[in-house]
Amino acid sequence: MPTVSISRRGEDRARAGHPWIYRSDVTAASAAPGDLVQVVGARGRPIGSALFSDRSEITLRMVSFGPASAAPDFLRERIAAAMAYRESLKLNATAYRLVHGEADRIPSLIVDRYGDHLVLQALSQGIDRRVREIVAALVDAVHPAGILARNDPRVRLLEGLDQRVEVLHGTVPERLEVREGVVTYEVDPWRGQKTGLFLDQRENREAARRYARGRLLDAFSYNGGFALALAPACESVLAIDISEDAVARIRANAARNGLTNVEARAMNVFDELRELERIGARFDTIVLDPPAFAKNKAAVPKALSGYKEINLRALKLLEPGGFLVTCSCSYNVSEPMFLDVVAAAAADAPAEIALVEKRAQGRDHPILMNVPETYYLKCLILRKLA
Ligand code: SAH
Repeated sequence: MPTVSISRRGEDRARAGHPWIYRSDVTAASAAPGDLVQVVGARGRPIGSALFSDRSEITLRMVSFGPASAAPDFLRERIAAAMAYRESLKLNATAYRLVHGEADRIPSLIVDRYGDHLVLQALSQGIDRRVREIVAALVDAVHPAGILARNDPRVRLLEGLDQRVEVLHGTVPERLEVREGVVTYEVDPWRGQKTGLFLDQRENREAARRYARGRLLDAFSYNGGFALALAPACESVLAIDISEDAVARIRANAARNGLTNVEARAMNVFDELRELERIGARFDTIVLDPPAFAKNKAAVPKALSGYKEINLRALKLLEPGGFLVTCSCSYNVSEPMFLDVVAAAAADAPAEIALVEKRAQGRDHPILMNVPETYYLKCLILRKLA
């Protein structure tokens, strides 16, 4: 097995349980793109084994720690473990994340299940090189009707990999039907955002449903995730998304579920919140689920003002006794930062609010304790007291 040596700093990082070693901490490497390598520290101390990239700033992605190397066929056993964990969760849905990269000890592999079909993303050289092996393991474990590779994320370019979407096994239709709780959705695995659905919010939709009532505003609705899950508990639903495509899907999904109280509008949420305030609209339940405003550290100050603005306006539109479900999926905006920004919005509104639930991404997207990057989705359920 090829060997890669790392610096003292890299060693400390790996010993603290972090699976990424950056290029600046690599002192010597004789390995080919995607190789499974032995990682050694100062004086040849064994650190573990990793997948090697000759292009990414993340040169090594650890797959095992300690003197014993990962077995050449480690992927198969880890896919089986990832699947067993998902089965143990007894999720009330036919769509969920089957493999969540680092959190399933398969760095940079994503596999989402949509009923009988799988959609995967191979986001590093090491995983890309092993796609055939991964597909074979998935076919044996899940017997899917088809596997689609949604290898179009831009991060692949950082690995020197091309962007492509292709069928790797069986057939994958243009539209798939999945069920989440009592709601069925039509999903576009070929072109939809992420792999087709925001699966990481499934449990937050379930949680929000426990509080939803009256007039609901679902801002940043995509294909109606929160709107449709909460609609049966509400009198009326207004779902807003800037994308015409998304709004068409909200309408189609509402009709498919026989939900007649859902109105969907293609609007910019920032403008529409202002307009709703101007006309004196009020809501009993509001969901804010914007895209990641801070894609990097430099964007954090601007992101915080964006979060502040939408939360402030939502709190003004909310009736006393009503619930605000507010989310941030920006890893760069930490939970304490997000709590602060929402508190500041409440002070300015002004509104007295209580924290009812503090939530994260669903259990099929586990957070690794030693890898802060894996805790990205924050979801607060708040109640407006006055
Ligand atoms: N709540 C959804 C996921 C939302 S993802 C769910 O549960 O599935 C974020 C959405 O915000 C995307 O669909 C995107 O089209 C939309 N969006 C981004 N900027 C927007 C803006 N300024 N106004 C309205 N929608 C916006």
